[in-house]
Amino acid sequence: MDRPRITIFDTTLRDGEQSPGCSMNVQEKLRLAQQLDRLGVDVIEAGFPIASDGDFEAVQRISASVRRPIIAGLARACKGDIDRAWEALKDAARPRIHVFLATSDIHLKYKLRITREQCLEQAREAVRHAAALCSDVEFSPEDATRTDVPFLCQVAEAVIAAGATTVNIPDTVGYTMPEEYGQLIRTLLEKVAGIEKVTISTHCHNDLGLAVANSLAGVQEGARQVECTINGIGERAGNASLEEIVMAMRVRRDRYPYEAGIASEHIFASSQMLAEITRVPVQPNKAITGRNAFAHEAGIHQDGVLKNPLTYEIMTPQSVGVPDSRLVLGKHSGRHALALRCEQLGYPFERRELDEVYRRFVVLADRIKKVQDSHLLELIEEVKAAGGKKIPPAGATIPFARVASATAGAGEVRPLPFPAAVSGAPGSISFSDHHSDQEDYLWGV
Ligand SMILES: [Zn+2]
Repeated sequence: MDRPRITIFDTTLRDGEQSPGCSMNVQEKLRLAQQLDRLGVDVIEAGFPIASDGDFEAVQRISASVRRPIIAGLARACKGDIDRAWEALKDAARPRIHVFLATSDIHLKYKLRITREQCLEQAREAVRHAAALCSDVEFSPEDATRTDVPFLCQVAEAVIAAGATTVNIPDTVGYTMPEEYGQLIRTLLEKVAGIEKVTISTHCHNDLGLAVANSLAGVQEGARQVECTINGIGERAGNASLEEIVMAMRVRRDRYPYEAGIASEHIFASSQMLAEITRVPVQPNKAITGRNAFAHEAGIHQDGVLKNPLTYEIMTPQSVGVPDSRLVLGKHSGRHALALRCEQLGYPFERRELDEVYRRFVVLADRIKKVQDSHLLELIEEVKAAGGKKIPPAGATIPFARVASATAGAGEVRPLPFPAAVSGAPGSISFSDHHSDQEDYLWGV
């Protein structure tokens, strides 16, 4: 069974980050890029380097530290932008320069004030320059879906000849319809010389709520890359949602016989992390990642789901990493429950790292009673940021007294100083004794 592989191009950090209220700092972008790596996306569009120093730095740092996926940087079709993008990307294991230029008459006339001939020439020149720097070049004719089709074909042909390896077809304004978009992809495949050598990509906006449907229509007609974002964030009504595209292809494999390299069990954690970083909550009824996406309220549904989940569930919550809702984490939760939830959130910890997470968890749980995933993600991040030095050597100990004093104050949670105790001090409990039930349940209570 040879299913075509679909490249998942995530632009949460670029198109998504451009949307109101979703801006992120360099640290936050780096954190999210690491999560996108865990999620298994093929391409991370890390930013638009010429746009700001922050964007430049984010692209540079992500390039240096996230090594598996392709890292893309956006550039307008001019030398300055392309050089700046390359400067930010050049340390990436697999860099990609993404060049764009509007091609619709309305954009040419009112925004760029250039003719079609000038547009064609500029696109060709820009791609040639980018291809001289980097072997992986994507070109996007902005507003492609409102571009005269024969002219779009001409542009595509020119940029392929100039060295583009991916041709993206943006529905920049969210105007197209599924059949129409599919037809456009088919026309490009039929009419453009050299198109078989490159990857055709979709980039759909959600102004009419059709971004995912349009993307899938594009895939059915031969597009092999999909550009999308976590939670569908992006300009105006947003971009096509990664989780919806991936799960549509997975749940309806019969209609969409394609493969994507996404580890779907990391979807929920990615969504949560993005919402937590941007403080933009996910709409409760959002498909796949919304709070209510797997909630069954109606009695008859609950009854059905309890008898057999397949009565009302087309996919399991576990398949997208939604934690078991019956599992509520509080101070009486043991290490095993905590380890399980961490794993569900995308953080499989080894024993000694878990010690540190658990220690902080107990302190926090004592204060806020019910530990939500967002709290846990924050806490995990603290532990990760603290790095290996905070992780105790096996056999180190910590006194009850110290834990108790940290929980006693009504103020903020203070991270415990570490190493916190002297081995063998009275009232201490051994870190190495991981299987003791007593240790599991009595800490910090
Ligand atoms: Zn866009």
